[in-house]
Amino acid sequence: MTQATELPDSLWRASSPEPAPSTRPFEGEATADVAVIGGGFTGLSTALHLAERGVKVVLLEAVEIGFGASGRNGGQVIPGLKLDPEQLAESYGPELGERMADLAGGTADFVFDLVRRHDIRCDARQTGWMSAAHTDEALKLTHERARQWAARGADVAALDGPGIARLLGTDHGGYKGGWVDRRAGSVQPLAYARGLARAATAAGAVIHEQSPVVELKRANGAWRVRTPGGSLHADRIVIGTNGYTDGLVPGLQQTVIPVRSYIVATQPLGDNLRRTILPQGHCVSDSRQLLFYWRLDAQGRLVMGGRGPLRDRSRLPDYEPVRRAIRRLYPEIGEPEWQYHWNGRVAVTMDGLPHLHEPAPGLAVALGYNGRGVAMASRMGKLLADHALGAEASQLGFPVSRLSPIPGHAFRLPALAAVIAWRRFQDWRAGAL
Ligand SMILES: Cc1cc2nc3c(=O)[nH]c(=O)nc-3n(C[C@H](O)[C@H](O)[C@H](O)COP(=O)(O)OP(=O)(O)OC[C@H]3O[C@@H](n4cnc5c(N)ncnc54)[C@H](O)[C@@H]3O)c2cc1C
Repeated sequence: MTQATELPDSLWRASSPEPAPSTRPFEGEATADVAVIGGGFTGLSTALHLAERGVKVVLLEAVEIGFGASGRNGGQVIPGLKLDPEQLAESYGPELGERMADLAGGTADFVFDLVRRHDIRCDARQTGWMSAAHTDEALKLTHERARQWAARGADVAALDGPGIARLLGTDHGGYKGGWVDRRAGSVQPLAYARGLARAATAAGAVIHEQSPVVELKRANGAWRVRTPGGSLHADRIVIGTNGYTDGLVPGLQQTVIPVRSYIVATQPLGDNLRRTILPQGHCVSDSRQLLFYWRLDAQGRLVMGGRGPLRDRSRLPDYEPVRRAIRRLYPEIGEPEWQYHWNGRVAVTMDGLPHLHEPAPGLAVALGYNGRGVAMASRMGKLLADHALGAEASQLGFPVSRLSPIPGHAFRLPALAAVIAWRRFQDWRAGAL
């Protein structure tokens, strides 16, 4: 895959209250206890949590902080995983499954605590997230999800049709109901990433942008990390490259399928519209197989993401399905001024869960957040820091799994195109937006 050299001209780039960090490309020779590769939430949170514990850590980012999904996402801070607590218990046994649910359930609080602790200016609001069910079957699933989290003491509630229409500020979506998770909220994601970089640097981490790692070699019990400018020698390596993973670690790229998600943002809406659209400030995703997700930003722009073509490109017509969804859901906006559009890679795994691997001694990787990484990747960074400091797999509360490439990965584009066409058809049959 070809790599661009800077972030797209997104809303987040234009409106970040946190300035971009000022760093230099890595040059020459240096040593570190831990080298972190990737300047998104995973890598930044790892670097922060290691530096806070006095570890000498150097983070290398190929392009710039937040260049990957972390600077491009919808900014929805959603706790939990794609699997429900009882599904986790079925898959991993009652003890580990329950610990995973506990960890995942606390990820949004983890983000909002980090924001407060480091005074990160990222428009953070813990105003809740809703999942809107577009079919009766999806409604049952969302209510079951709410039941399972409520049983664990989470501040959640099931919603009926009128209930969700009230919180969405529309009944044009035909949603049957859903659930609301009040642990969740939103951030300006690029500002959050930049704030994490600032906090990590203040704690003693060294960050180099424009420093793609091109080779990893292990010799005499230590690692040599090579960039075009020099070599970094480190005892341990942590990789957080998610949907932007390249061929650095054999087989790693083949463990995830990078799919693209497309976002558009309107102009700031007038006061009357802002009083009626998402009147209580919730974020939303719907239950479609190719889901739509939306929220208002701090200036009252409607920001919505959804499906689009698979290939790495950005053409205006690619954003039409998302624009159409806005027109249908909120016709009172009329034809908005479309101020921004951009897209990014979401790393999807076959089991719907993020993965933590240790493919070689002293080398750890976490990736595959399936479009739910704002909260989970932040929490994963702390897990990776604990792991680098010697925590056993049994202490982490999250499985360290074998790196297992997806069979037939080389044919992913045509296979994915077929899956997406089928899902689009199913969504259309259930009621198009
Ligand atoms: C459009 C979009 C919308 C999304 N919306 C949401 C949402 O609302 N809520 C949510 O929870 N999740 C959302 N996600 C998912 C979320 O953004 C990701 O899960 C999360 O940001 C992953 O963070 P990360 O640090 O693991 O990876 P990334 O942020 O992708 O960072 C990986 C970094 O690694 C760098 N890199 C790659 N190779 C190398 C190398 N060889 N050397 C050095 N650096 C390298 C890349 O340049 C990149 O900066 C969305 C994703 C997208 C694309």
